[in-house]
Amino acid sequence: MTSGTDKAFDVVILGGGVNGAGLFRDLCEQGVDCLLVDKNDFGSGTSAAPSRLIHGGLKYLETGEFGLVAQSTLERNLLLRNAPHLVRPLPTIIPIFSWTKGTGAALRTFFGAKSAPRSRGVVLVKIGLALYDFYGSRSKVMPRHSLWRRAAALRKLPALTPRIVAACKYYDAKVTAPERLVWELIRDGLAANPGSEARNATSLEGQRDGILAFEAPDGAAFTVRPGLVVNAAGPWIDRVNRLLGISGKLIGGTKGSHIVLDHEELARQLAGRMIYFEADDGRICLVYEYLGRVLVGSTDSPADDPDNVRCEDEEVDYFLDSLRRLLPGLAFDRAQIVYAYSGIRPLPASDGTAPGLISRDHSAPFAAPEAGRPFPVISLVGGKWTTFRGFAEEVADSVLERLGRKRRISTRELPIGGGRDYPADEAGRRRWVTDLAKETGLPAGRVETLLERYGTTAAALLREEASAEEPRFLDDVPDVSHAEIAWIARNEAVVHLGDIVLRRTTLAVTGRLTAHDLDTISRIAGTVLGWSEGRRRSELDETLDTLRRRNLAPL
Ligand SMILES: Cc1cc2nc3c(=O)[nH]c(=O)nc-3n(C[C@H](O)[C@H](O)[C@H](O)COP(=O)(O)OP(=O)(O)OC[C@H]3O[C@@H](n4cnc5c(N)ncnc54)[C@H](O)[C@@H]3O)c2cc1C
Repeated sequence: MTSGTDKAFDVVILGGGVNGAGLFRDLCEQGVDCLLVDKNDFGSGTSAAPSRLIHGGLKYLETGEFGLVAQSTLERNLLLRNAPHLVRPLPTIIPIFSWTKGTGAALRTFFGAKSAPRSRGVVLVKIGLALYDFYGSRSKVMPRHSLWRRAAALRKLPALTPRIVAACKYYDAKVTAPERLVWELIRDGLAANPGSEARNATSLEGQRDGILAFEAPDGAAFTVRPGLVVNAAGPWIDRVNRLLGISGKLIGGTKGSHIVLDHEELARQLAGRMIYFEADDGRICLVYEYLGRVLVGSTDSPADDPDNVRCEDEEVDYFLDSLRRLLPGLAFDRAQIVYAYSGIRPLPASDGTAPGLISRDHSAPFAAPEAGRPFPVISLVGGKWTTFRGFAEEVADSVLERLGRKRRISTRELPIGGGRDYPADEAGRRRWVTDLAKETGLPAGRVETLLERYGTTAAALLREEASAEEPRFLDDVPDVSHAEIAWIARNEAVVHLGDIVLRRTTLAVTGRLTAHDLDTISRIAGTVLGWSEGRRRSELDETLDTLRRRNLAPL
């Protein structure tokens, strides 16, 4: 396995989810040469399966995890500034069914009981939201919470159950394209340090005597000599550690699913707001307007096979029944589902605690070098999408210390991807749109659409679109151009067709993709990436199969 040609990297990061990508960007910014490897696509694991909330974790107040809430609200506020193209405020409504219920149960949970309250009254929710406002006041960007009386709540959301006694409104945030944001972190890292590399669709085969062996997408084997390894494989962490010769169980994952509905009336009534509600079993669920559709989630049950998770029939029934009880003024059925997704929360292995109460805090256990493995391994366990930057900062600091290097730059105020030079206000936005429309000769509306979708990265896409002889658009999604797809295929580390429709764009998750357009996209990508007709067909078949089988897409 060893040879004189093994390439050396200061750090090898195994796993390109948000935690691996966040750490990669941070270390690259400090001048550390890193190799980031993912066996599938970047951002294709749990990082593609969240509720898409960038949130302080209101419910963690119940378990007394004040430190986690403080960190999460701060990170939420920072992301609203650093990635304003993809992270946006999310006004949130909590329907409340009693005035005082749940206070005693919440106190028991707070003091360590392994079950959650089944119902939370106005008093309890108000106390929680006052604390939440307090923790969210650092780098504050959004208003405080408010209480709606029953009549006002029903006026604003007529479909809501009349069983409520009141509702509270507060602000959190959402990330419209988490998969894309993961890629943008990686692209920023590569730009910051040309000595670093990132490879997707590349599997770790094993390690011997300090040399890691990989297989590239074309089947070629290559080897690498790491100074230090970070295992950022999320729910696969224990498997990757075994490949590195480390035994033990760090992860006790729980599975969570979501469905996306095409439901115009509900989307209209939600008007950009989320309802954060208790299902009948006391679990917290959510429903919000998401890019013109409605996102509903999530379930929480023990599971440990991250390669084969999908939203099962009983989860769909659970969601639809919960919606029917919450919004009796509207009709719900399976035919409204345009997409579904599932993932495994890489939570720390724990005892009999209810899944919803297992801590979402993170840790980074360290495995010292040993005979046959001369490099140390740090595993990134747990955490939330929201807190990836803070987690990366902590781990990067400890890596820098081990390498005897100093931090050059903080990531706290560092914009991400298309968030760089993003217009700060409405006037700046109008200027940006006018300037690009003038430069490219494209309509202002088109510039606006791409700014919304890609942030300031849109400038490069617009220039490509403007240089096409005659701009062409997808037949069924006429706001996506052929040039847009070609630019992504050429510039965004695309290996497979699914990378484009599932992760670099929101075509699949919003249920806008048709089989006809997928065929067109495969032809554009095939031309850019030099696919044979056989390869193009197998990419098409595989992507269709994934979308139909795993994502319940009606294609
Ligand atoms: C249902 C659900 C809802 C959630 N909702 C939210 C939310 O709303 N807000 C929030 O902040 N957080 C949320 N989370 C949590 C959040 O999504 C995760 O904490 C986060 O995405 C974990 O990222 P990760 O990088 O550790 O893991 P992953 O994203 O799973 O990344 C691990 C990567 O390792 C790769 N890998 C695996 N094996 C190998 C190998 N042998 N070699 C190389 N690479 C390998 C995988 O392909 C994968 O890309 C939710 C999670 C779930 C499941």
